[in-house]
Amino acid sequence: MWHGMKPAIAQLAIIVALSGGLWAQAGGYDLLLKGGHVIDPANHLDGIMDVAVSGNQIAAVAKNIPSSQAKKVVDVSGLYVTPGLIDIHYHIGHGGAPLNWFAQEARSHDEPLGILPDLALQSGVTTIVDAGSSGAETFVQEKQEVIDHAKVRVLAFLNIVGNGMQGGLEQTVDEMDPKRCEAMIRKYPDIIVGVKTAHYWTEKAWDAEHTPWAAVDRAEECAQAVNVPVMVDFWPRPQRTYADLILKKMRPGDIHTHVFAQQFPILLPDGKLNPIMEEARKRGVIFDVGHGAGSFWFRNAVPAVRQGFIPDSFSTDLHIENFTILSMANVMSKFLSMGVPLEDVIQRTTVNPAREIHRPELGTLSPGKEADIAVLEEQHGKFGYIDCGYARMDGNVKLVARMTVRAGRILYDPSGLSMTEWEKARPQYFSTPTFGNSTPAMADDYPRK
Ligand SMILES: [Zn+2]
Repeated sequence: MWHGMKPAIAQLAIIVALSGGLWAQAGGYDLLLKGGHVIDPANHLDGIMDVAVSGNQIAAVAKNIPSSQAKKVVDVSGLYVTPGLIDIHYHIGHGGAPLNWFAQEARSHDEPLGILPDLALQSGVTTIVDAGSSGAETFVQEKQEVIDHAKVRVLAFLNIVGNGMQGGLEQTVDEMDPKRCEAMIRKYPDIIVGVKTAHYWTEKAWDAEHTPWAAVDRAEECAQAVNVPVMVDFWPRPQRTYADLILKKMRPGDIHTHVFAQQFPILLPDGKLNPIMEEARKRGVIFDVGHGAGSFWFRNAVPAVRQGFIPDSFSTDLHIENFTILSMANVMSKFLSMGVPLEDVIQRTTVNPAREIHRPELGTLSPGKEADIAVLEEQHGKFGYIDCGYARMDGNVKLVARMTVRAGRILYDPSGLSMTEWEKARPQYFSTPTFGNSTPAMADDYPRK
């Protein structure tokens, strides 16, 4: 889509270069990523360019910014430079499970649900959105224990269930209080970007309390009151069909996550894409990957992608059950291997999710915005990918994150792109400290903490 806008790129680059010059006069850049292939769909940029950072902000994106203008220069030639990626389906914290989850009196003996937010940095992800691990009753605890300590930016969908996901109350409709949900979102509008509903009444018979749409309806009631999207995790049943969900219940801007899970009729029996998918898209319904441990099947994904249906945003649904095998880079690699062009993959992990959560200031390399940057390598070879039905898809392309910058700081650089070769380190590096409080033997003085 944005290929057609390439003539605008040259003009934009000139404007950006001029603003970059002003920044340089003000005392030089702190960081310069030199020679990489920049893909920034929000600004229609796609080509070899340099990215300069001053403090915590993007200062300039332009061709040939002189190395002499920066304190730290990182050669990223041969690599892709993109806005820091956004994963809108991630799980952090305990998810409502009590902290004493080993104790007899604990309401749930399930493991804590979430994983460390900063693990996301390993894939070039700089913003994660917790997908309803906590609800109105448990959000403040999650904020204090996890969100406030993360280096990655953490936003959240608030579970319509007050107790959240792992506290054993997901089937209790009385726990789904739209008013309480609304009050909590009004209290933390800077963190909470939407409402989540999930896992509701998937197998038992309906009864007076458990009506088919209770969870979706209550999530919608809360979300509409504060004008945020609902993220829906859903299980269709005869009295609660997928068509009714995406064509009637969901509002424009609402997000159906887990779109390639086994339970959705996204393909007709003859293998053709179900027309309800495009019909829902025309209504403004958003489709998200939310890969997870049980929500991604190649038998749905590959035929849909071949027929041109690519989800609007790619997300992981990372949690305790899948973090050893899954990552954002893995999800992106699967779509690359299915033939989705890299620029489309980057669009679905930057500008698209930013818009979906009403945060257009994220997912872009625009000068003046917070400097969240991913440096990615596209590798070619023989790779195997797996889905949640334990099927394999072979591919010949793989995306690997090489460096992650969050708010101007290099927080992930496992191969030392930004580091000095050890034999060329400054003398201090070769010293043997005497005391615990001696000056650390660092190779250079670049601030990394
Ligand atoms: Zn999830």
